Amino acid sequence: METIETFCPSCCKPVAAATIERNEDSLVKGEPVTSFARIAVCPLCGEEIGDSRLEEGNVQRAYDAYRSRHNLISPGQIKALRSRLGISQKSLALLLGIGEASIVRYEDGSLPSTSNNRLLLDALTNEGMLRVLRENGRLIPPTQLNRALEALNGTADSGGPSKEYAPPESDGTTGYKVPDIDYIGQCVSLLASLCRLSYITRIGKALFVSDFLAFESRGEAITGLRYARMQHGPVPVDYSVLFQSLERLGYISRTRNEYGECIYPKVENYDAITEEDMRSLKKAAQFVDSFTSVEELSNCTHSLALWACRRNAEIIEFEAGDEVTRLVASQKG
Ligand SMILES: [Zn+2]
Repeated sequence: METIETFCPSCCKPVAAATIERNEDSLVKGEPVTSFARIAVCPLCGEEIGDSRLEEGNVQRAYDAYRSRHNLISPGQIKALRSRLGISQKSLALLLGIGEASIVRYEDGSLPSTSNNRLLLDALTNEGMLRVLRENGRLIPPTQLNRALEALNGTADSGGPSKEYAPPESDGTTGYKVPDIDYIGQCVSLLASLCRLSYITRIGKALFVSDFLAFESRGEAITGLRYARMQHGPVPVDYSVLFQSLERLGYISRTRNEYGECIYPKVENYDAITEEDMRSLKKAAQFVDSFTSVEELSNCTHSLALWACRRNAEIIEFEAGDEVTRLVASQKG
């Protein structure tokens, strides 16, 4: 049995009190809850001693019981979320539109309000967090925003559980194309075989250019992928997860060298790709290959108004894409 050095008010002297454990009923926000409690008992007089160190734990366990009954986020979950994304308490508060003092209190063990709890639980999901980063990312320091976005996109070697890429619903942000993972796999493999340098950011940009060229010429994209404005240019949303899935499905392989991660083609015949799509994919690969350095290519995509006028992580609609066609045409000439 554990003992605790404490003070017995009945005996009026310091004692080494044994602690007992039992279930205790208490009221949290006016609601009765039962939770496990540790209590010190005086070895001399046998009275229970109220010790603040034990009380603190007892109150938190009562809160935990209340939290799990009402599906409230725990202090540990909030801290883990911030640490995973690399963002401060202030940034999380700004992203969610709640007070910084509230985040501090919740992490210290206070119970969140119903509305703040809903916001926090939603932010625990990758989708929910991506949404608030898109909406409010401009409010937080860019270094934290980029770190959070990178964490959510998942780096190739994160060692976390592998996720399967979930294609988006078809609408204006996918170029009105219903995404098909097999067709996407063939297109990515083809681009990797066409491009001289097949770093993932280059392949991401080549996909972007192909889809926007196709949409501009016939009102429908090739892959049905959705694109976001990122620091280094426009890229497919969740591209890391996408490429991981395509590798598992056998369309590509990935290798990391000292400059970054490269994609290698694994598809042997591209008969399934339509002639029209093939034309746009080849044009895009040529365009990307016309830049020798990553910086040149980034600078060029940064000159696009559709990139410049958007905030980080914002989705780029295909309707905004006519300048891509002009850019590609001017580069060739
Ligand atoms: Zn005593």
